[in-house]
Amino acid sequence: MSIRVTDACIGCGICLQQCPFGAIELKENMAVISDSCTLCGSCESVCPVQAIQIEREKQAAVNLRDYQDVWVFGEQRNGEINSVVYELIGEGRKLADKLGEQLCVALIGSQLSAAADDLLQYGVNKVYLVDEHELSVYNDESYTSVMVDLINSYQPSIILLGATTIGRSLGPRVAARIKTGLTADCTGLDIDQETQNLLQTRPAFGGNIMATIVCKNNRPQMATVRPRVMNAASPINGFQGKVQQHDFDTSELTMKTRVLEVIEEMTELIKIEEADIIVSGGRGVGTPGNFKLIADLAQALGGAVGASRAAVDNGWIPYAHQVGQTGKTVGPKIYIACGISGAVQHLVGMKSSDVIIAINKDPEAPIFNHATFGLVGDLNQIIPEMIKKIKQGRIKEAAATSE
Ligand SMILES: Cc1cc2nc3c(=O)[nH]c(=O)nc-3n(C[C@H](O)[C@H](O)[C@H](O)COP(=O)(O)OP(=O)(O)OC[C@H]3O[C@@H](n4cnc5c(N)ncnc54)[C@H](O)[C@@H]3O)c2cc1C
Repeated sequence: MSIRVTDACIGCGICLQQCPFGAIELKENMAVISDSCTLCGSCESVCPVQAIQIEREKQAAVNLRDYQDVWVFGEQRNGEINSVVYELIGEGRKLADKLGEQLCVALIGSQLSAAADDLLQYGVNKVYLVDEHELSVYNDESYTSVMVDLINSYQPSIILLGATTIGRSLGPRVAARIKTGLTADCTGLDIDQETQNLLQTRPAFGGNIMATIVCKNNRPQMATVRPRVMNAASPINGFQGKVQQHDFDTSELTMKTRVLEVIEEMTELIKIEEADIIVSGGRGVGTPGNFKLIADLAQALGGAVGASRAAVDNGWIPYAHQVGQTGKTVGPKIYIACGISGAVQHLVGMKSSDVIIAINKDPEAPIFNHATFGLVGDLNQIIPEMIKKIKQGRIKEAAATSE
């Protein structure tokens, strides 16, 4: 697609006000469009003299009826299925039932037959399995080629992927290859009963509005969904599904990259998405050294360490710990927010926690509107006191059990 302004432009400036990305300016009474343009089309529709024209690539019309079934990308590492897959299966089941279609998982890797059988217990009708030694480690190029082959062979109507590092990399590549749309980071999915289109809801414009996006003319409809947003499926006793082996000729793969070694980062081991207790620090922690207080409290509680973006941007803690719109979505039993104000972009990542405890010296901090318990005061005094009490409690507990 490309955009151009023709000589018909009268320099009225209406398009400037309409552009949500500030990508248009007036130069010598003509609209000039910068590289920030996303080709959203807002300006085209308001131009009173049709001077703005978006040239769209002509694509053969897709027969929507040729596509059916809801697919989940079965992300795995070393045969271990990522927990987001079970959440997508839970959500995918609801969508498939509304459409009267099947729920399937696309599972790609090596030595995965046990994992494929296990997935069937979660109410999956069919697992499409591509099991090849050459696919044992995730690679953008090889997995994209396999997914595209699977899609072309079986034509699913919907594909859901986790908004994980792998899902965020694979999804757009596949979508671009098969020329369809992809909605990233969805927080809600549903089916339009009239059109049977997938309704894909996600925060937009810095989290200030929720946008529902529809892929009307292309198939499959693709979406990534953040971990911990949807409820995970539970095993269904006696559910009958089947594994369909799909042959893929790996000798056809032409790869520009090769994985030489996989090194597990320490931060990856923390997995805040899976922790029951998270202690998070924000700008109020004050210094990188002070983050030890947050880690000490997390350790005393057997929890993981989280952070606001302000703390990450200050370089106090790696990005893997960031909670929020551009970080991870978490839903622990207890979330302790220390020196975090409660910006909407942080809240979207943790508001589904069972219990939220906020420590903040400002009694007016917005985080208190969402907290189950609030402690107003200096975290430098409150946290050491909490750690002391927790340790004392442990000692008493140990003494009681030894009696
Ligand atoms: C597109 C976009 C995406 C974003 N994504 C994210 C995201 O994923 N995650 C995220 O967190 N943010 C995100 N942000 C940033 C967000 O808007 C806020 O700027 C950020 O969350 C603020 O972090 P904070 O609460 O740590 O800092 P602040 O807002 O500065 O709050 C610090 C708080 O600490 C308190 N405090 C200070 N000293 C003490 C003390 N000694 N004891 C106790 N309390 C103290 C203060 O009263 C204050 O409330 C995003 C923003 C944008 C525009």
